[in-house]
Amino acid sequence: MILGVIADDFTGATDVASMLVRAGMPTVQVLGVPDGELPAADAVVIALKTRTIPAADAVAQSLQALAALRAAGARQIYFKYCSTFDSTAEGNIGPVTDALMQALSTDFTIACPAFPENGRTVFRGHLFVGDELLSDSGMKHHPLTPMTDANLVRVLQAQTAQNVGLLRVDALRTNAAAQIVQLRADGVRIAVADAIDNSDLLALGEACADLPLITAGSGVALGLPPAYLRRGGWSPSDTAAQLSPVQGTAAVLSGSCSQATNAQVARWIADGRAAIALDPLALHRGEQGAATLLAQALALLSQGPVLLYATAAPDNVKAVQSALGVEAAGALVEDTLAALAQGLVTAGVRRLVVAGGETSGAVVQALNVPQLRIGSPICPGVPWTEATLPDSGEPMWLALKSGNFGGVDFFADALRQAGVTL
Ligand code: ADP
Repeated sequence: MILGVIADDFTGATDVASMLVRAGMPTVQVLGVPDGELPAADAVVIALKTRTIPAADAVAQSLQALAALRAAGARQIYFKYCSTFDSTAEGNIGPVTDALMQALSTDFTIACPAFPENGRTVFRGHLFVGDELLSDSGMKHHPLTPMTDANLVRVLQAQTAQNVGLLRVDALRTNAAAQIVQLRADGVRIAVADAIDNSDLLALGEACADLPLITAGSGVALGLPPAYLRRGGWSPSDTAAQLSPVQGTAAVLSGSCSQATNAQVARWIADGRAAIALDPLALHRGEQGAATLLAQALALLSQGPVLLYATAAPDNVKAVQSALGVEAAGALVEDTLAALAQGLVTAGVRRLVVAGGETSGAVVQALNVPQLRIGSPICPGVPWTEATLPDSGEPMWLALKSGNFGGVDFFADALRQAGVTL
């Protein structure tokens, strides 16, 4: 293993894995702290859910992930967080970085959430989201991790006792390696790195490819594989994104109520494709259930892919939530969709699109697939992935889409890309 990645959330893990595959690195994503040996791949991404949990728990899980990656021989470790530097005030980012540095016996790393292709740039240590400072962007209203300061040196310094400094873009562009030597001599332990475009990410990759630890969003992953190539001992694979061929039917499960998913569901139905609506209130009253929904779906599947959806407009969701409670409504829908996923796969579905971050988590758990091989992207950040079914050892393909990703034709695009005739 060349690179071992510890990601602080599930969709972020898929995002960085997709970047690595794009650069020719065969990559496997492991879900949760691994309990056995890691799979063989150039890069392994361990997807944790540590962004908003207490810092001590985030540290403990990250150290367990680190131990697994080191045992598998990872040459470099990458702590992946969000490109908007999402963290609570005490942070997971500072404490986890400190713990990983200590465990790796290293006195220097970088911190860089920049992802210019997605409008995340860092200049003079300040994070921009599009044309706005982070603190002026929608992130200031985030329910769990409101980001009210765009100065990342200040944000990170509040989360660590180590000295935080700045690797400026001008130095990065002229002589990054010398600047890192200087920062280290000045006692900087964690350098927030500027990056405004992809060439900055390439320069950063070259300057940091020999550090034991990198902390970053997914953007920096773009610059590492070319640096590994230049150093020898690794070369890109033409087949990094290739998944095992699958036969069998195809379906879509949608539990996301985001604006994008509402539009995607509406388009699927407007195109005259098979769709079955879940009604949370009917589910609650026992008038609807996973078994009857599954039977309806299986009757339609022989003619083509079918969509099962709980996706609804905000007013409708609010009405359901006030009747059942927010958590109970969510759990009821997630449990039903997870049971449907099991039933569909048992009945031969081998290409399954799932919409919704929490929904995807529930489905993956129900299917009991601990790892995913990452394939080609359907849209930025959402690749097809291959799972191995635990009972039969057969491969199946999963596309796990978090709420706001994808264009209006996402479902049909994903299925066509997976070889389904529509
Ligand atoms: P996203 O990625 O868009 O946030 P998630 O799957 O993470 O999607 O979250 C959506 C949540 O809303 C899930 O817990 C899901 O079970 C719940 N949900 C889905 N449909 C409805 C509905 N019609 N009424 C109430 N809750 C719903």
